[in-house]
Amino acid sequence: MAAVSPRLWAPRAWVGGRWRDRVLLEVGGDGRWSEVTPEVDAPEDAETIDGPVLPGLVDAHSHAFQRAFAGLAERRDSAHDDFWSWRDRMYGVALRIAPEQLRAIAAHLYVELLAGGYTQVCEFHYLQHDLDGHPYADPATLSHALVDAAGDAGIGLTLLPVLYERAGFTAPALRPDQRRFATSVDDVLALQQAVRGPLVTAGVAVHSLRAARPESILALAERSSGPLHIHVAEQTAEVDECLAATSCRPIEWLARHAPLDARWHLVHATHSVPGEIEAVAAKGAGVVLCPGTEGNLGDGLSDLPGWLAAGVPLAIGSDSQVTRAWPEELRWLEYGQRLRLRRRNVSAAPEAEPSTARRLFERMLAGGAAAAGFERWGLQRGARADLLVVETSDPALRGLPPDHLLDGVVFTAPARPFARAMVAGRWRPLRDGSIADRFDAAMQALWPPGGPPARRKGERG
Ligand SMILES: [Zn+2]
Repeated sequence: MAAVSPRLWAPRAWVGGRWRDRVLLEVGGDGRWSEVTPEVDAPEDAETIDGPVLPGLVDAHSHAFQRAFAGLAERRDSAHDDFWSWRDRMYGVALRIAPEQLRAIAAHLYVELLAGGYTQVCEFHYLQHDLDGHPYADPATLSHALVDAAGDAGIGLTLLPVLYERAGFTAPALRPDQRRFATSVDDVLALQQAVRGPLVTAGVAVHSLRAARPESILALAERSSGPLHIHVAEQTAEVDECLAATSCRPIEWLARHAPLDARWHLVHATHSVPGEIEAVAAKGAGVVLCPGTEGNLGDGLSDLPGWLAAGVPLAIGSDSQVTRAWPEELRWLEYGQRLRLRRRNVSAAPEAEPSTARRLFERMLAGGAAAAGFERWGLQRGARADLLVVETSDPALRGLPPDHLLDGVVFTAPARPFARAMVAGRWRPLRDGSIADRFDAAMQALWPPGGPPARRKGERG
């Protein structure tokens, strides 16, 4: 790993929401920016960065183990295929992964996330127990596997151990194929305390309203600190079941019955009505959108214009890992709305911010930092010394006028948009042969040469 350069100088960098020229970036001994100064010449002792510099984004929603399933669920073997049939097949992966395999899969994913422009990842971590459903001798074994993987890759990690109690609104317990997920409020609090590391923080999560009892959700909110994430309203079936069980829609239930505030981050929030958006905005909670996964799973399209207009903090996540770069997520986010509304530049605000890419990037920069529990983020004094160097030598980005570079990164991006990434003042590899080899070995152990078997007739889907 390269040594720390305490002084860096970039020809251009994204400071205060716009490109600034000739920027000196100074790293303190704590791995944070001690000073960020635009419009100065390069000091002799500074390392000159060979390209424009952006802040890293937070990947606010990840299930690392699902990286082992990416590309393996794209064949339909029955009349109907939707989120629920995908989930049952995904459980097949969840039931097989051993701790060392999880570390290998997650480390490979985290290197890919760094290459895709993320310098911090929030792990919504619900795979907890041994293959038979019994806790490991150390109940935090799989948490440590994720912490070790983040260390292997050099990415920051916000671990979110998940409260997971039941199979549905009216189910008393989990299904047998959910046995590795079972946790109580006490378990989640203990898991939150169990992880440490220089780039590691921890919050908590609730799997969903269907998977946790109301009294447990309220207890966890009261007894925990840090960010609190919850899957909500991803599926219309979940909205229908929540209405039947509680007479409220899922987001409505949270707004009425949970102590929503800036700690809370609602993952997906796909199926909302305007009153729910207003209620979330009034409480200061955030929303995490996962456009690549939501498209892959056929979830539906969120009311992005509504969330943007209400000023709700927004973040993006790689979720099921079918997409692992934020430019692609932002493109999908905007394109979904263009297709839905048959308009262009839906996310832009003509008076305040005409650039779609800039408005989305700035919102995700702030919302992602909040979702990961950071008070300061980006290229500013006191924030962790993270940055990305844009690959402007790529044919896809050549010749763009400087002010349109971010638009180009989002809407005509090269396959590998970033040349380098720094986390906490250190350059991190964007490819790693030994990590990739361990991933290959884990995949070979998990899958026969033909991949996962097709479901047999009569299997639940
Ligand atoms: Zn998720």
